[in-house]
Amino acid sequence: MRHIGRMNAQYDILIVGGGLNGPALALALAQGGAKVAVIDARAPQTRASAGFDGRAYAIAAASQRLLAAIGVWPALVGHAQPMLQIKTTDGVVGRGPAPFFMTFDHAELGAGPMGYMVEDRHVYAGFLAAMQGQENITLTSGHSVAAQDVQAGCATVTLQDGQVLTAKLIVGADGRTSGVAQRAGITRWGWDYGQTALVTAIHHERAHNGIAHQYFLPSGPLAILPLAGGHHSSIVWSEKSAIAAQIQALDDAGYLAALRPRFGDFLGEIALAGARFTYPLNLTVAKNFIAPRVALIGDAAHGVHPIAGQGLNLGLRDVAALAEVLIEGARLGLDIGAPSVLARYEQWRRFDTTIMALGMDGVNKLFSNDNPILRGLRDLGMGAIAAAPSLRRAFIGKAAGVAGEGLPRLLRGERV
Ligand SMILES: Cc1cc2nc3c(=O)[nH]c(=O)nc-3n(C[C@H](O)[C@H](O)[C@H](O)COP(=O)(O)OP(=O)(O)OC[C@H]3O[C@@H](n4cnc5c(N)ncnc54)[C@H](O)[C@@H]3O)c2cc1C
Repeated sequence: MRHIGRMNAQYDILIVGGGLNGPALALALAQGGAKVAVIDARAPQTRASAGFDGRAYAIAAASQRLLAAIGVWPALVGHAQPMLQIKTTDGVVGRGPAPFFMTFDHAELGAGPMGYMVEDRHVYAGFLAAMQGQENITLTSGHSVAAQDVQAGCATVTLQDGQVLTAKLIVGADGRTSGVAQRAGITRWGWDYGQTALVTAIHHERAHNGIAHQYFLPSGPLAILPLAGGHHSSIVWSEKSAIAAQIQALDDAGYLAALRPRFGDFLGEIALAGARFTYPLNLTVAKNFIAPRVALIGDAAHGVHPIAGQGLNLGLRDVAALAEVLIEGARLGLDIGAPSVLARYEQWRRFDTTIMALGMDGVNKLFSNDNPILRGLRDLGMGAIAAAPSLRRAFIGKAAGVAGEGLPRLLRGERV
């Protein structure tokens, strides 16, 4: 990996955003021989060296294959908790957890764990280490992109300090409020959920045995996600925003007292084990994923509800599809910023993304209320799935990311 030191530097692809999807795409493209610059406003070391804070990702089986193919997985495997079961419950606060309605077990798929839980600090450090081993990647950290321009045959970005970088294509991996999308004139659709996610980590007395839990509570879903070691779990607890603000303002004892009746006692005594974060939740999807010499990936293309822990997994699907389209295009001698090349990427990803975004939106709306008619319908639906092994296997395949036609090569664990 190089660090920037040249004015008017020239690349094949400029990736704006060095969160998670930007580095993943850079690694896939560099493996395919492309010369890539990743520009990120944040300094990398602050995030890579952070201590345990409980933020973690559910990495689906297909995403794990991609991480292995781009050389990041060896750094993560020692920190990863395999997810062996997902139990979903339609709960009521104060009455404790209802009997489990649906259990999804990896054994039904017969292809290893459904996914892995890995803490954010390890994922990011893994990306950084892998990028450091790549000559084809230039990382430009602590620099913001201020402007972008498209000319015949190339595109440029101008950093806030005046440096200009040129390439055939700009990729926006700059998150939910993507400046790349705005500057390219791409508008968005979506809405606020009026919910905020309270995120923290807990230590629990009993071992989690690799089981993830999702409680559908009237004010929003509560996910309990197993972390490596057996006695820590990451909590993603969605509440109506006003209630979340009150809970976040409590001291640790008050916070735990609010969590306990929602959580129940199936893991024994619980204690806070990480920092406490809040994330306001909204749905924000770009109306187009491409514009002249511009493509969007990850949250820049689609910010979704965290209800099924699919945000990063959806982004890695974009990474796999775009890397394949661009590397194949370059091998055929095509201009990788040409509309016909980019259109293939958009066709591959937009439909799947819209279905997933609306699916998570629908599940959140169906479950985040206490309407007795809807509660009856939910229980009926969950009962039907519980009784039908083929339906259950389809859900497990979808959660693992291994289902579906036309899976890009990286999601099958093959390099492009
Ligand atoms: C509460 C919560 C829980 C979640 N849990 C899960 C989960 O379990 N599993 C899962 O798959 N997903 C999960 N997600 C979703 C996941 O966090 C996101 O999908 C993912 O982090 C998006 O990564 P990204 O790289 O696309 O964008 P980001 O991580 O937002 O990165 C964008 C980057 O762009 C940079 N940037 C922005 N503007 C500029 C600029 N002008 N110049 C230079 N750089 C710029 C920023 O510095 C930033 O580093 C969760 C999300 C939330 C809110």
